[in-house]
Amino acid sequence: MAYEKSFNLELAKKLAKSENPEAFLEDELGHMKHRMLQLNSAREKMNKGFSQVLQALAEAFPNVDLKDPNFQDTPNRMARALIEVCSGLGVEDREIFSTSFPSEGYNQVVILKNIEFTSLCSHHFFPFTGRASVGYLPKSHGNGKVVGLSKLARIVDVHAARPQLQERLSSAIMKAIQKELDPEGVMVVIEAQHGCLTCRGAKKANASMVTSALSGNFKDDQKLREEFLSLIKD
Ligand code: ZN
Repeated sequence: MAYEKSFNLELAKKLAKSENPEAFLEDELGHMKHRMLQLNSAREKMNKGFSQVLQALAEAFPNVDLKDPNFQDTPNRMARALIEVCSGLGVEDREIFSTSFPSEGYNQVVILKNIEFTSLCSHHFFPFTGRASVGYLPKSHGNGKVVGLSKLARIVDVHAARPQLQERLSSAIMKAIQKELDPEGVMVVIEAQHGCLTCRGAKKANASMVTSALSGNFKDDQKLREEFLSLIKD
C-alpha cells in the first residue's frame, strides 16, 4: 500500500504530539487490530443475515433469480455498506472538537451553511439526504471558544453516519456544539428528502422535511433567529 494511502491525518496529528512516537504507534496499532477484527466478525454475521434476507425474498417472489451474477457477493456488499453508513457511531463529539481557539471578543454568529449529508432512517433503514446549516454564537468573554469551520461539517457527517431520525439529528448536532464549545447559543436547520417517503409508502418524490434545533440565545432572541435564517437563505 502506498504510504500516502495509509496516511491518517488524525493519527499523524496525535503522533506529532506524542512524547514516545514508537510506543504510541504500537499502542494505536494494537487498538486498530482489535477494532478491525471486531468489525470483520460483525461483517461476517451481517453477510449471513443478508443472505437469508435474499433467500426469503426469493421465497416471497419466486421470479427472483439468486443465481444472477449481479447478486453474487451482494450480502457482503450490503454488510460493508451498512458498516460504512453507520461508521459515525464509532466517533465521539469531543474527538471532533479537540482543537478550538479563543474567541478573542468575537461576538457575532458563525455559520456554516448547506452542509450536504446522507443518513439512514432508523425506522426503515432507507437513506435520507439533505443539507444542514449550523451556526453558533461564541461567548465573547471569559473562555469563549471558536473552532475551524471543518469541525462544523465534521459534526454533521459524524451524526449523519448513524441510524437516525431527522429530528434527532438536528438536536444531536445542536447539543454536541453546545456541550463542547459552550457558546451563547446554537442553531441548526436541516432540510432533507427521505427515501422511505420518496421510494415507497406515500411516494412523494419532491417532499422535503425541515427540522430545527435551538439553544441559548437563539431560543430567546427572535432577532438572532431571523438573522440566522436570513444568512442561510440561498
Ligand atoms: Zn423512514
